[in-house]
Amino acid sequence: MPTLQALLILGSALLAASAPASNILTTGNANDTDGLRPASWPTFEQCEGDNRETIIAYAARDAQVLGKATRDYVKSLTGPTPRYTTWFGNYTPERHATVLKIFTAINTNDYLAYNYYCDCDVPGLPEDVVAYVYSWQYGMIHICPEFFRRNTTGRNTQAGTILHEATHYVNNGGGTEDWVSGTNNSLQLAIDDPDKAVDCAANYKYFAENTPFLD
Ligand SMILES: [Zn+2]
Repeated sequence: MPTLQALLILGSALLAASAPASNILTTGNANDTDGLRPASWPTFEQCEGDNRETIIAYAARDAQVLGKATRDYVKSLTGPTPRYTTWFGNYTPERHATVLKIFTAINTNDYLAYNYYCDCDVPGLPEDVVAYVYSWQYGMIHICPEFFRRNTTGRNTQAGTILHEATHYVNNGGGTEDWVSGTNNSLQLAIDDPDKAVDCAANYKYFAENTPFLD
């Protein structure tokens, strides 16, 4: 019996050891209903280990889907909707045109052709930074450890983070700023200053993630 027990323990240890690897693909890609790997693979720098390249690639693929769906929604708008006004404030044709310009621009990007750098050693960078870009360095996203603790669905997602960063590029319709960060600040910005809300990356992210759902 000691032998059997040892085998059982070894068996469950093997199961436990193999669980994280398979779980990461599942939990890291909750939107991945087709089970297919992304069609292409981004370029990575210093992202080896802990499945980080795979997690980023799937997030990039999800960002592509999310960005297109959001662009289609914005394009269909002819007036205010709860979703629009919640994140971008008072509707005007001019501000709607700005939002459409940004989403149309980022929708032409191929996030699976971006370069992802898992280097986050910038002096003075706050610890809770998820990712960052230089607005003139199109297609290059620096990924911080916090990125891998982000959700895969709902609000504050990995895919949403990629969209947020994409809106910053000057090449994408002039680029956005970080006027505020955090859900409540974005909601307040939409009320107080819609001109800034349509120029704020966080508002684009929350609008795209649309959680909780608004029509
Ligand atoms: Zn930002």
